[in-house]
Amino acid sequence: MKKKNLMKDTGILARPGKTIRVADFDPAFKGSIDSKEEGIRLLSENVNELIELQDKLYADNRYAVLLIFQAMDAAGKDGTIKHVMSGLNPQGCEVYSFKTPSSTELDHDYIWRTYKCLPERGRFGIFNRSYYEEVLVVKVHPEYLLAQNLPGIRNTEAIDEKFWQTRYDQINNLEQHLVENGTIVLKFFLNVSKDEQKKRFLERIDDSSKNWKFSSADVKERQHWDEYMQAYSDMLTATSTEHAPWYVIPADRKWFMRYAVSNIIINRLKELKPEYPVLPEAEKNRLNEARELLMNE
Ligand code: ATP
Ligand code: MG
Repeated sequence: MKKKNLMKDTGILARPGKTIRVADFDPAFKGSIDSKEEGIRLLSENVNELIELQDKLYADNRYAVLLIFQAMDAAGKDGTIKHVMSGLNPQGCEVYSFKTPSSTELDHDYIWRTYKCLPERGRFGIFNRSYYEEVLVVKVHPEYLLAQNLPGIRNTEAIDEKFWQTRYDQINNLEQHLVENGTIVLKFFLNVSKDEQKKRFLERIDDSSKNWKFSSADVKERQHWDEYMQAYSDMLTATSTEHAPWYVIPADRKWFMRYAVSNIIINRLKELKPEYPVLPEAEKNRLNEARELLMNE
């Protein structure tokens, strides 16, 4: 069956240069996929295709792939990473989760801890949260910035729009540098609705096998929902670029979210046309010699 073209079909790309508002994207969108079963089947086809592409990417050793996931709590970052990347060769893939910065991390610039984790050529690097927290949670709670001891920032009054614009520019410059040096950068905002988040929190409370996932801090953070949506909208507008685009992924249906993410990765990787390296003639001759040696043992 022909694969559906989600990029056309869903409008989930945050179009570079446009003003992006999270409210304009439907978290429950499911494209033209008729059922959950079909979505799950399409995902498993994509997972197989991704395994093949990863193998070629690894052998080609020219590009690295950086996948960034940002979302509100319970949107499904962990599950999406688990399902989309399942089956990949672990040697060619690393996942990093970024939490509240440590005191050592606060003593460096905000990119430092993530820069050290960037993927090597031929590999996938997955960031579960990232330096984007620095224009999201930190923008919602500007007092967090004071712990960074930045020049000129001695109180929250000193933090103005210009400060955030500078951060967006720094991030765009960083990503441009990475892309120019062979890293593919794809960024996913898993867009869960406020109602669906509530449902998932209640499940975590009511279902004892999910209790471990529940954190009362997440419920407290939810009270800042509107400020987060504003911070996300500002961030998407400022940092969705041609070289490193943001995708706003409908997250109320987990199966659709996972399928959509896998589709975007595959479409991008296919554009690179990674191929197994073709050996030069001299090397091929050496292989033939080696074969003969083995056969004559
Ligand atoms: P899960 O809850 O699914 O295990 P998580 O990513 O929510 O995963 P937590 O340990 O619950 O992990 O939360 C990490 C917290 O760290 C989040 O609240 C996030 O906003 C915060 N955080 C991450 N980076 C920064 C940062 N640079 N500055 C301040 N807070 C940050
Ligand atoms: Mg959490």
